[in-house]
Amino acid sequence: MAMIGFVGLGNMGLPMVRNLLDAGHEVRGFDLSEVARGALAEAGGTPVAALDEVVAGAEVVVTALPAAAHVRTVYQGDDGLLARAATGTAFIDCSTIDVATARDVIADADAAGNLMVDSPMSGGVGGAEAGTLTFMVGGSEAAFAAARPVLEAMGKNIFHAGDAGAGCAAKICNNMMLAIQMIAVSEGFNLAERLGLAADKLYEISSTATARCWSLNDYCPAPGPVPASPANRDYQPGFAAALMLKDLRIAMEAAQGVGAHTPLGAHATQFYSLMDLAGQADRDFSGIIKLLRGEL
Ligand code: NAD
Repeated sequence: MAMIGFVGLGNMGLPMVRNLLDAGHEVRGFDLSEVARGALAEAGGTPVAALDEVVAGAEVVVTALPAAAHVRTVYQGDDGLLARAATGTAFIDCSTIDVATARDVIADADAAGNLMVDSPMSGGVGGAEAGTLTFMVGGSEAAFAAARPVLEAMGKNIFHAGDAGAGCAAKICNNMMLAIQMIAVSEGFNLAERLGLAADKLYEISSTATARCWSLNDYCPAPGPVPASPANRDYQPGFAAALMLKDLRIAMEAAQGVGAHTPLGAHATQFYSLMDLAGQADRDFSGIIKLLRGEL
């Protein structure tokens, strides 16, 4: 069992730590929030007061931070993880950030003689609690091998996507496709309603026909057909629209950087911005159906 350092004990981080503790690892964690550090102590981990205490004696360090700026501060700051860690430490960044930042931080980790992967995740807070997250991992074979056993204690599907940054690339491509599909399914169900076609009937047909996809079959944005979907609990997340908007913005920046044409991704970003402007960013992303209905 390993000594693991953990930085970012938020909605995802804390339940991930619980699974590491359940697997028998020792966890030393840091978060700017005192409340989060208290919750770590309650869970059976050891809260520490600064980043140098996170890396002291740690074989592996996991981070789950809000955005790229936080990742840079935590890893690359003068008192950051890379400046403080012993050579050979393995780092796993599970934050969803842009590919360029992920590559830059991993290059610094390499230069310092450490192993590092970008390993964004999907599966939400429910997946973090259940230990069933999907991890999309970018980095060298050696870094992936070092990260894998720790990721297995927190997730179910672990993919080695490719070299540094490939995990973040996979995550933003997946979520851009997901956003577009959710909007498409929402438009279909709204049109059906106007045409007098019941949601259950459209679901029965389309979930086995050519429009089938996860947004329709498993997470239907119209109330009724899929009892477990957020549509049946007033769009409580789930996966908050704010997080989808964040991922779409990263995807659009990436697309611009490499000259990829993503007109539907751009449209989807506008739709989720409108959902945000309507004060609904904390609702599930499938709540976009209400915006399209003119209800927001
Ligand atoms: P969160 O905001 O709940 O938690 C982030 C934590 O990081 C906070 O507790 C914050 O205090 C801490 N933090 C920020 N800066 C810090 C610093 N400099 N030092 C130490 N701690 C610091 O976010 P979350 O929902 O746990 O998400 C974490 C990452 O996972 C994000 O990149 C998010 O996009 C991604 N993600 C989230 C979900 C989800 O459903 N919540 C799903 C998939 C991926």
